[in-house]
Amino acid sequence: MKTSIQIGKISGIPVKLHITLLIIIGFVAWSIGSNVFELAELIGVDPPGIAPGFQSYLIGIIMAVGLFVSVFIHEMAHSFTARGMGVEIKEISLWLFGGVANMGEIPREPNLEIKLSIVGPLTSLGIGIICYSLGMISPPILSFVLVYLGVINIILAAFNMIPAFPMDGGRILRAMFAKRQSYVSATNRAASVGKVVAVLIGIFGIFYNFFLILIAFFIYMGASQEAQSIMVQGVLEKIKAEEIMSKDVETVEPHRTLREFIDHALEVQHTGYPVMEDGKIVGIITLRDAKKIDRSRSNEVKVEDVMEKDVIYFAPGDTVNGLWRKMMEKDIGRFPIVSNGELVGMVTRSDILRSFKRLSEIESYRGDEI
Ligand SMILES: [Zn+2]
Repeated sequence: MKTSIQIGKISGIPVKLHITLLIIIGFVAWSIGSNVFELAELIGVDPPGIAPGFQSYLIGIIMAVGLFVSVFIHEMAHSFTARGMGVEIKEISLWLFGGVANMGEIPREPNLEIKLSIVGPLTSLGIGIICYSLGMISPPILSFVLVYLGVINIILAAFNMIPAFPMDGGRILRAMFAKRQSYVSATNRAASVGKVVAVLIGIFGIFYNFFLILIAFFIYMGASQEAQSIMVQGVLEKIKAEEIMSKDVETVEPHRTLREFIDHALEVQHTGYPVMEDGKIVGIITLRDAKKIDRSRSNEVKVEDVMEKDVIYFAPGDTVNGLWRKMMEKDIGRFPIVSNGELVGMVTRSDILRSFKRLSEIESYRGDEI
């Protein structure tokens, strides 16, 4: 299911709206609209001189959109800071709990990470203070909207400073731990703190606000996921492609027909083959590619007609972590390993899974820090 809609681009970065954000905007618009007067009292401004009903819901919509824009600016602050550090920003998506920027690899440098994380809450705080101050000196309706946006941004800053993944506060905490210990153990420690925070928020939510239980659940999941993915990366970084690659690689020639290829492939039971011509890789072909062509034509169509020509390959010394990320990103099941232009091996997804399992068992047996 497609759950995000692209709403535009800002300096080349696609901006997407996740469906959950639309739901929350609707909900916020409705709940503000039906409580305008109570809300005004709560944030300490004169109630706007408007009639309940249509006008108050209109105000609700304006403020909900204001909330969305605030979240958006917060996320842009992260993205532009990251870009300044040379990190590629693939897209920004806005969803229920805020924004997520899909970035390339962030430098694992505690001070950079702190800077990158803290700029979001600081931006929200800045907007909050400006809106609040302007609101205090504005005429009634405007004052209500501005003070409210001020308060929202200050809450946004505070919420994001909760020391738990995937909030900015969790990343700052990890970076602080990472100054003294390995990235993996820093992540584990930060994730444990995050879980405790999540449980506390959840307990608080049982008594005060049901919505907090949802947030607690989300924080808990975020902490577990972050710890897990860093643990996997930590293990995979210790394995080199040459240690797990299979060395005798079955190859095919580009001029073979698909029928010949399929017969051969079924016999040797591999699923993907580098296509070689004059000792060089010119493509890669899988049984899946071959099966796309109708059986009746498999005697005429050649391997080179259906093979993937844009081959991604790795060097024997590359860590498996890089291969794994690329496999996930491109949904490719295997990569050739090439040294000085020569094919020396092949690494598949199941090779990586097997070695991951083995190494993590050994390490947990030894009790090593991984
Ligand atoms: Zn943030």
